[in-house]
Amino acid sequence: MIAGLTPLSTTDFPGCLSAVLYSRGCPWRCGYCHNAHLLDADSSPALNWQDILSFLERRIGWLDAVVFSGGEPTLQRTLSSMVREVRAMGFSIGLHTSGAYPERLSEVLPDIDWVGMDIKAPFDDYASITHVPDSGKCAKTSAKLVLDSGVEYEFRTTVHPHRLDAEKILRIAETLSEMGATHYRVQEFRPKGCLDKTLLDESETHVGQDISAELGRVFPMLLQQRANPAF
Ligand code: SF4
Repeated sequence: MIAGLTPLSTTDFPGCLSAVLYSRGCPWRCGYCHNAHLLDADSSPALNWQDILSFLERRIGWLDAVVFSGGEPTLQRTLSSMVREVRAMGFSIGLHTSGAYPERLSEVLPDIDWVGMDIKAPFDDYASITHVPDSGKCAKTSAKLVLDSGVEYEFRTTVHPHRLDAEKILRIAETLSEMGATHYRVQEFRPKGCLDKTLLDESETHVGQDISAELGRVFPMLLQQRANPAF
């Protein structure tokens, strides 16, 4: 269920003031996960759903959106009904997902206004990040569902240089572009709360200029963003 709530965020749904709901449980184990306390479905205590709805009711007119994040929100059997209840209050709905459960993603997409989907690695190499065999198949199916849905989205990849080299990042970008994606960005590994402590000892974490230029060739929007950070 829902294990945490951020009452106000300016960064989790582009252009919107949002509250963020964190569900617990995720089938994958990415070493850079900074929500490790949410990964086990039974560990952290759940917030009361009616209390969450009461909180949101008091925020009507103050917040634009509610974002379902995690953990992996599509693990939740009740995701669709939770989304509909919140949507009925007048909020736009954002979803952060890894795409681990394409069927449930397909079920909720009609009620979603914006999706932020993590692309962990080239789809044939997902297990190197998630530690779960064949996880890339689900992710690829989910990415296609997002693209076919017409819902606004952003694909993003977290880059730790010892887990994802330039060749792999470019391969991800080219595959997404071939699938029809136009929105993609890379984000640097953040050490805070990181699940795999060995990643902390490996220093250089930024994506170099060369790869950024190459990415810009595949996704011209990235070049515009670099030229004008406010874009
Ligand atoms: S998919 Fe997301 S929540 Fe799950 S382990 Fe990876 S980073 Fe953490």
